[in-house]
Amino acid sequence: QAAKATQSRVAFYDRSMDRDTSAQLIMLGELTTALESDQLELLYQPQVDLESMTVVGVEALLRWHHPSGTVLLPSAFLPTAERTGLIRPLTSYVLTRALAQRSLWALDGLDLQIAVNISTRNLFDDTLIEQVRTALREFHCPAERLTLEVTETSAMTDPVGATEMLSILHAMGVQVAIDDYGTGYSSLAYIERLPVQELKMDRAFVGGMAHDPAHAAIVRSTVELARTLGLSVTAEGVEDEMTMTALRELRCGRAQGYHLGRPTSSDLLPTLVAELNTRLKIATGERIS
Ligand code: C2E
Ligand code: MG
Ligand code: MG
Ligand code: MG
Repeated sequence: QAAKATQSRVAFYDRSMDRDTSAQLIMLGELTTALESDQLELLYQPQVDLESMTVVGVEALLRWHHPSGTVLLPSAFLPTAERTGLIRPLTSYVLTRALAQRSLWALDGLDLQIAVNISTRNLFDDTLIEQVRTALREFHCPAERLTLEVTETSAMTDPVGATEMLSILHAMGVQVAIDDYGTGYSSLAYIERLPVQELKMDRAFVGGMAHDPAHAAIVRSTVELARTLGLSVTAEGVEDEMTMTALRELRCGRAQGYHLGRPTSSDLLPTLVAELNTRLKIATGERIS
């Protein structure tokens, strides 16, 4: 067992790890084991189209059921995975699991857009294209049904390299969304040059829009500019009815957040979607009459 862990560590060793602490090395070993022994789970959070008021997709969000008994959030382990290169097999695992799950739901008549997050390192890794192509083919997923979410900061690490990768994905028909939009330093004019189809406004602005006029103004101008540029817009972090109503009034395309649904396990997701669709239908009906 110890020898195996050592081997795995060596396999994922690279120069950037010289800076790593032993705590990170331990985590790397544990995370390698986690990948091999099914300790990782994907939760799915619904995304609602604000015009039709129906669930149109889900975002896959990673959780680690650590042997210590705690469930770790991505912020606790993704930085180590990124730094050590383990992010490559990790992303490959997430893509496979998410597309497999999507196809199971589709067979049951629940045809959802599936959004998968990718890290900075994936964006500059040539093997990503083949991973995506293989997973799409294996699970008979139309490329248009897959959205890859790339953070604004990742894309801006190397805009030329990012453009190259995103162009190939775009040509395959895969949707690309800029995640956490508004937290980086890029202008929307710059983002528009990237081959992307969607902006996800960060919850820092969305969450504040109901009580902070400056945040409301940022959200309004982002929605308007995105519309002008032909990009679709999703608001993240919608936590209450008031925010959802404000977003509908601005004609923001889609919304995601605790008010609509928490990240949910795959077995409970179909029920959540059905209940949410019913709740939204009733709410919309009441507003019209
Ligand atoms: P993200 O892609 O921006 O995902 C949205 C995050 O906001 C998720 O946190 C979600 O649980 C949380 N969230 C959703 N609605 C609300 C809300 O109404 N209020 C608040 N306060 N939070 C909300 P989570 O699951 O902890 O993920 C954090 C980040 O980790 C993600 O941010 C994404 O960048 C990254 N991540 C998650 N899963 C993966 C993965 O499979 N691969 C990669 N590369 N990154 C991932
Ligand atoms: Mg995301
Ligand atoms: Mg985000
Ligand atoms: Mg985020």
